[in-house]
Amino acid sequence: MNVETGSAVPCPKCGQPTHQDLVKTAIWQGERLSVVEDVPAQVCDNCMEQFYDDTTTEAIRRLSEQGFPPGSATREILVSVFSLANVLTPEGT
Ligand SMILES: [Zn+2]
Repeated sequence: MNVETGSAVPCPKCGQPTHQDLVKTAIWQGERLSVVEDVPAQVCDNCMEQFYDDTTTEAIRRLSEQGFPPGSATREILVSVFSLANVLTPEGT
């Protein structure tokens, strides 16, 4: 899954070189979390910021508009959920 890039696109955020990669992104819709993988992105070597081209952004937007139909999911994963409620003590205690 190695994608070679002809020209290195500088990071719009910090100006450092980016490289082409396949990434995952997680999108919340209310209480429902969906994960999209195999997302082609330019990833900054310095700040790890990820940038998608228009085609990719559009594809994600379309999935989002469809409400991430479960029937279209390629697989499901078990996600661990952590709470800070027991970690962060309320002020004054
Ligand atoms: Zn950067």
